[in-house]
This record gives sequence, C-alpha cells and structure tokens, in this order.
Amino acid sequence: MHDFKYKNKQLYCEAVNISNIAKKVATPFYLYSYNTLLGHFRKLQKAFSPIKPLICYSMKANSNLSICRTLVKAGSGLDIVSGGELYKALLVGCDPKKIVYASVGKTEEEIRQAIAKQILFFNVESLPELELINKVACDLGVIASVALRINPDVEPKTHSYITTGKLTNKFGIDFDTAYGILQNRGKLSHVQFNGLHMHIGSQIIDSQPYVLALRRIVGFIERLRKEAIRIEYLNIGGGLGIIYSEEKPQTADEFAKKVLPILKNTGLKVILEPGRFIVGNAGILVAKILYVKKTPLKNFVIVDAGMNDLIRPSLYGAYHEILPLEYKTQNAKRLPAGKAGNAQYDVVGPICESGDFFAKDRILPKVIEGEFLAIMSAGAYGFSMASNYNCRLRPMEIMVKGNKFYTVRKRDSYVDLVRKDVILEFLK
Ligand code: PLP
Repeated sequence: MHDFKYKNKQLYCEAVNISNIAKKVATPFYLYSYNTLLGHFRKLQKAFSPIKPLICYSMKANSNLSICRTLVKAGSGLDIVSGGELYKALLVGCDPKKIVYASVGKTEEEIRQAIAKQILFFNVESLPELELINKVACDLGVIASVALRINPDVEPKTHSYITTGKLTNKFGIDFDTAYGILQNRGKLSHVQFNGLHMHIGSQIIDSQPYVLALRRIVGFIERLRKEAIRIEYLNIGGGLGIIYSEEKPQTADEFAKKVLPILKNTGLKVILEPGRFIVGNAGILVAKILYVKKTPLKNFVIVDAGMNDLIRPSLYGAYHEILPLEYKTQNAKRLPAGKAGNAQYDVVGPICESGDFFAKDRILPKVIEGEFLAIMSAGAYGFSMASNYNCRLRPMEIMVKGNKFYTVRKRDSYVDLVRKDVILEFLK
C-alpha cells in the first residue's frame, strides 16, 4: 500500500532511514515516496486497462512540480482548477490535450489562457460560465471544447465539506438544466460539446455512490443519443478514498470491477481525475517534538509543525496516524509508563489557535523532547493547502527514490515572507 515501513524500529521511506534525513534538514518537512506515487497511478491504470482511460491526476491534491512531472512522464494527464495550475501543468510538460479544467469560478482571463493553450476541454459548471467561454472563443476566433459537469444528486457519504455531487452543492449542473443547454446548443456558435463530467466528492470509500451516479449519467447519455446529441467523453471525476485510520476503502480493482460493466460497451472515452488516491499515502509530514507539556488534564506534545503546514485535522477533524521515527528504549524523562509503555497525548502545533492540532487524546508510545514524529498519509491536501499563517515558513518537500533523497521544494525563507509586501512611502 505504501513504502513507509519500520526496519529495526526505525521508520524507512523506501530504502532511506527517515531519521537520517530529519537529522540533516530543518523540520518540519514533507517526505514523498516516488515508488508509492507511481505505484498508485499504475494500480489504477491496470485496474481500468480494459477501457484504457485517460487518467488526469488532480493537481490540487499536490502540485509539486516533481510530483506532477513523475505522473506526466508515466502518461498521466492533469485535472486543473486555476490559471496557476495551468501554468504549472504546462511547465511539467503535460500535453494540453491531456488537460481538463474544472472550477465553478473560472475568470475570463483564465478561460482565455486555457483556450489559447488548446486544452482538451473545460468542465463547465454553469450556463453563465458556458456563455462566457463561448464569448471568449468567439473573440479569439476559435471553437472551445467543453464537457458539462453534471450534478447527479447522489450522497457520497463523506465529510460535508468535500461532498460535491448533491443538488445543495455549488458544483455542476442538474440533469434538466443540462438537457436544456444541450437542446439549445445551436445558440452557442463557438463551443463544441465533447463530453459530460461528474465529480461527486472526495475520500469516498464505497463504490455504490459512483455506481448510482454513473447509471444516471449513462442513462442520460443514451437519451441524448436518441436525439442525435453526440457525447464522446465521460469524465467520472476523482474522489477515491484512502486509508487514514480504520476505514476500508475500495481498492482500484474493486472500484473498477463495479464501474467497468457500466462504462464498457458505451463507446465513450473515459477520463478519471484522482488526486488523493495517487498521492495521499505517498507522503508524510515529519515534525520534531519541541516540548512535552503536562497539565492537570492533558499531556500535550508540542511539535514544530502547525495547522499552516497541514490543515486537514483543523479543517475537517481529519485523522492522521502518528508514528515515531524511532522506537527508543524508555528514558527517565518520559511520562510515567502506562499500558504497554504508551501514554495519551494531544499532538499540537505552535500556532495561536486551539484548532491547531494533529491529534487529540491519542495513544502513542511515550515520547520525549527532541524526538521526531511522522504524521502519515499527508501527501494529498497537505502542502497544497499550506500557508504562511503566523509568518511561518512553509516546509521543505523531499522525495525519496530507492536509497536516495532529493529536495523537491526548498523551505520558505524570511525573505519569501516579505517579498511581495510594500511599506508605503509616506510611512517611511
Ligand atoms: N476532480 C475535481 C473536479 C475535484 O474537485 C477534485 C477534488 O476536489 C478532484 C478531481 C480530486 O479529488 P480526489 O483528490 O478526492 O481524488
């Protein structure tokens, strides 16, 4: 499942002892396994091989250039949601014909840039957006390719913040509206309708909501075909869940087994846009314990990473497994031994918010100041959601391949913090 394993009580990433990295570079840092990253991409490719889909890795999960380049080199396309992601996608050499562009709020300038680069298509989320794309394409004297993002109104049984396929969500277009748009497509002279798209949410562990949504969409496509409306592509989105804790998400094979029968004989070209499934378990966040603080009610482990580095626990109450980089022998400074040498801790960061935590009431092997902890499964929506809150430096990112490790993003510097700020003349 991933290449982070203990050998002789030391946590390794592939063939590298992570403690050796932690002793050399400043913590906190993200650490990615090249093998795990590629392995997950290939698992999905293999599971869906009967229909040879285009897999467009969803860059929002982690847009580090080396991560994206690894996947692009392996044949992946990219799913983007902004001009910035388009810029990075082209920088890593992604063929524009393998780029799909979602987002409910594409600006005119972003639309213009993407049309100029001739991406595969926009996943269109509303009628006004479609009209704007038509206008921009008309200005440029070209035809823009689009897929309508359908909101199939299914319950993906995930966190409400990452549920996107219900009619109460801002995403996509309901079937009736989509039908109306397609019937009136002749009024939009500068768009070509290439496909339909859906993305029903993230961290979905069961295939049932996909099956339900796909049956609805494929039924809709059949109805369109009867009216001579041709749909070439079906983009089934991302959202595949991964293991953070006790959950048992569908594997790529199990997922494919459930959805392939619906997709197989449709003649549709299929696109998948997974993010978390590919990169989630391929990354960890390594932090150093600054203090172990005992209060009348709690034991706090205060680490040098904060919610600015990894916001998922604060934002979604998300669970991340926390492991010591080394299992050491007991030490006099440790808290009194509990059951099997463990103790209960809140693992927290240094930021001035009580929401700045990585775990609450977590049973961990007893730890002491100066030790390192690995916050697991932090590859997706980790660094990509990081900020400089509290003027903290966003962490370094490192990639391990075999027995070597490489910096894939330097840590921010203090100069980075002020590079764009201006002290007004009259204040000088
Ligand atoms: N596609 C779209 C349109 C999305 O909005 C997202 C995530 O928000 C994804 C794909 C990737 O989702 P995940 O990382 O859960 O696979």
